[in-house]
Amino acid sequence: MANAQNKPEDTEKWEPVPPVVTAGKVVGEAPSDAVVLFDAKSGLSQWKDVASGGDAKWDVKGDVLTVNKSSGNIETKKSFGSYQLHIEWKVPANITGTGQGRGNSGVFLASIGKGDDGYELQVLDSYNNKTYVNGMAGSIYKQFIPLANPTRPPGVWNVYDVIWTAPTFDGDKVKTPARVTVLFNGVLVENNIELLGPTQYIGTPAYRKAHGPSPIKLQAHGDKSEPLSFRNIWVREL
Ligand code: MG
Repeated sequence: MANAQNKPEDTEKWEPVPPVVTAGKVVGEAPSDAVVLFDAKSGLSQWKDVASGGDAKWDVKGDVLTVNKSSGNIETKKSFGSYQLHIEWKVPANITGTGQGRGNSGVFLASIGKGDDGYELQVLDSYNNKTYVNGMAGSIYKQFIPLANPTRPPGVWNVYDVIWTAPTFDGDKVKTPARVTVLFNGVLVENNIELLGPTQYIGTPAYRKAHGPSPIKLQAHGDKSEPLSFRNIWVREL
């Protein structure tokens, strides 16, 4: 649990630095049995504003969804247990900022509360942008360093394909921890790892409270860099 002595720096890891990999082409068209969470047709119909529970207020242009930082995080109206998820993201070509302040967002694989409560697969411009390695793109934030760094340059779409196994509980005690596999631009970066609990900015992660099926949440991070975009989001329940 976080206390007065804990600092964000305490849980940053700076090594080992994952090798840079140039990814190949990735195709992400939704299969016939997928639930489409965002495309040009769906718009934001599948999403809500986390804080108010009202309409999601991010910016939609055709098949592109852009973060509206002032309006906060959004999450799916529907809840999910275990699933396969496809999501594409891109930071603008003219992105500025450094470290965690450069194209920071995140995919919360299960949203278990307001704000950033949940299990965050980090989204960040990690193309020639040094930060703590357990906080770079493809990391499970402050828990698992990605196995490689296949981040494409600013202005080019990146792809996450995620297999999420939801945790199970016995009372508030974890029975089977959450597991996740992540392909990043077709490159394996998280290999069926066992999460230590919900991800935390400060303090040591642990499972503290039971939860069932949960929404998928996207982060409106408070950094000062130009907002990034998402597209082609779909999920297959397992
Ligand atoms: Mg983030």
